[in-house]
Amino acid sequence: MSTQFAIDNTKRILHISEVERGLGCDCYCLVCNERMVAKKGPERDHHFAHESNKQECITNHETLLHKFAKRVIKESGGLAVPEHTGMPLPYWFLFDRVEEEMRIGTIRHGSVIPDLIGYNGNASILIEVAYSSFADDAKIQKLEVLGLRALEINLRCYDPENFVVEAAKEAILNNLSTKKWLFAPTEKQRSYTEEKLVIKGIWVFLRYLPWGDLAIRVGAFNPEVNAIVKDIAKRYWGRWNPTYKNWIIPNRWIEQARNDVLAVADAA
Ligand SMILES: [Zn+2]
Repeated sequence: MSTQFAIDNTKRILHISEVERGLGCDCYCLVCNERMVAKKGPERDHHFAHESNKQECITNHETLLHKFAKRVIKESGGLAVPEHTGMPLPYWFLFDRVEEEMRIGTIRHGSVIPDLIGYNGNASILIEVAYSSFADDAKIQKLEVLGLRALEINLRCYDPENFVVEAAKEAILNNLSTKKWLFAPTEKQRSYTEEKLVIKGIWVFLRYLPWGDLAIRVGAFNPEVNAIVKDIAKRYWGRWNPTYKNWIIPNRWIEQARNDVLAVADAA
């Protein structure tokens, strides 16, 4: 199998059909980062080759499709999604930011690492890009328990031999037939609106505020735990709210702050 994808100097993944031929493509190997030549002759299949002409690095098509889908979704700033409970028609879910491979979940119910998470304010969609491996029942159950809205995009037809950029983009962004909800709760079912965990024996409360910020409150006076929480809050531009005696973490950073809190929490 020849190499059909490479990255440019901004790490943007590109298909061979999107670049000019030769070294002018200014592309690099996804695996070893060597400069690549775009071989686009009149006869042979178009592909990338290492500048040194060494053997191709081993890549997995599923991984490449993940990266391609991430690029396309990030660049479009949203995608069309099928209808679900509470939403009788398909709609365009607009993202104000997209995070890659971030762990999300709760201590009590475990966590998942979706390929992408698209956010719009405090609403989010987990996106799984599937080519050869699809979400199993165990994963779907976990999403239900966590109350996480998750979409799977089926790119099974987009094998290396039949990869056409515009068709793949269409499948990722506009088609509905390639997509299915693994789980789609109503907003009320989101189970992590409030989370309670323990740090060094002290309750700590995480509250997701309606406008998307996160409030972190230590349940009892404890200088050591207060210092830990303050440290995390400061790391993500948290501000102290003296009225409620909690730290408010801005929307942009809530998942990172939450992950850091989870990392120091006592095992459940
Ligand atoms: Zn390489």
